[in-house]
Amino acid sequence: MQTSPLLENILNDGATPCYICEEALLEKNLQLLEHIQQKSGVKILLALKGFAFTPLMNLVGKYLVGCTASGLHEAKLAKEFMGKQIHTYSPAFKDDEIDEVLDLSDYIVFNSFTQWKKFKQKALKHSSCGLRVNPETSASPVDLYNPCAPFSRLGIVEKNFLHHELDGIEGLHFHALCEQNLDALKDVLKSFEEKFGKYLKQMKWVNFGGGHHITREDYDVLGLIELLSDFKSRYKNLTVFLEPGEAIGWQTGTLVSTVLDIVDNGMQIAILDTSAEAHMPDTLAMPYRAEVRNAGKSGEKPYLYRLTGNTCLAGDIMGDYSFSKPLKVGDKIIFEDMIHYTIVKNTTFNGIKLPNLGVLQKDGRFIVAREFGYEEYRRRN
Ligand SMILES: *Cc1c(COP(=O)(O)O)cnc(C)c1O
Repeated sequence: MQTSPLLENILNDGATPCYICEEALLEKNLQLLEHIQQKSGVKILLALKGFAFTPLMNLVGKYLVGCTASGLHEAKLAKEFMGKQIHTYSPAFKDDEIDEVLDLSDYIVFNSFTQWKKFKQKALKHSSCGLRVNPETSASPVDLYNPCAPFSRLGIVEKNFLHHELDGIEGLHFHALCEQNLDALKDVLKSFEEKFGKYLKQMKWVNFGGGHHITREDYDVLGLIELLSDFKSRYKNLTVFLEPGEAIGWQTGTLVSTVLDIVDNGMQIAILDTSAEAHMPDTLAMPYRAEVRNAGKSGEKPYLYRLTGNTCLAGDIMGDYSFSKPLKVGDKIIFEDMIHYTIVKNTTFNGIKLPNLGVLQKDGRFIVAREFGYEEYRRRN
């Protein structure tokens, strides 16, 4: 077996920032999902919203049955790079896009009865049609990521569910979780069945959405298989879909950056050629602290630095990290677990360069799959 090259040595200074997705780590996640599909009989889709890494989309397609798209562009990407099942849900579809969406989508999910009635005649000709419901139960950690928060626009609540408008509807969909374990799914599923279980006998499929943190180390995989098998035994006519995004890209790679300068203003502040705001937005939005390879919390190691971005936003700060030796200009700083909900959310804010996309292949070879420069900024401004 070849040993992987040290990430620090893969890239010269001009080649950072760069996301590096490791094929072997992605495949490990996919194998676990494949195991769940086989043991429980459910079908698993990739939600492109969280992970749309096209250089390795082929690999995802070897294990999963298709993609979940949130609209026209994601559906097009699914078709171009995976070409398997396409399930499309959008909070609202547009008149000038719906024909193309339907053409691409094997399954389509509407967010309201108004949208369903508006597009019903067309939709029935192309796709298997479903409705998104809101189970009104969620233990999502923050409201920004809680589809069941008060006044949520996402999904139909029980009191608005028009049981006489279901002619042509073949599936129900809910999505209520975010980075959660099996206990949260159990609560949501119970509420879903209490409110909408009576309609399942007339359905062909049900979609349990995403937010299942299946590939995280402490996830109760056996419990999930048991729960899904039990559900399937109670509703034998139903195909069950799960559509995680984060679980697929979870812990599959890094963002590698370079120290450009170190300044002192009451503490040592390292300026990197990347940005929390533009390249790791959830560290500011969620917020959470990203792990940095070979670094500790403040006080854990002798040399403390504030790691910051190379934009003019004062708050473009990744956090304070300690190192076992002093940092110097040119050093590489490696942010862990930076493949999901990063690349898909990147911006060219302040004209900062988008990180390239690299792949560390299973055979140990490294390739830069996508390179970005001025053009991305220019076209959007
Ligand atoms: C975001 C989203 C997903 C994927 O969620 P993850 O947390 O990435 O697993 C799936 N389905 C819908 C409808 C979503 O909005």
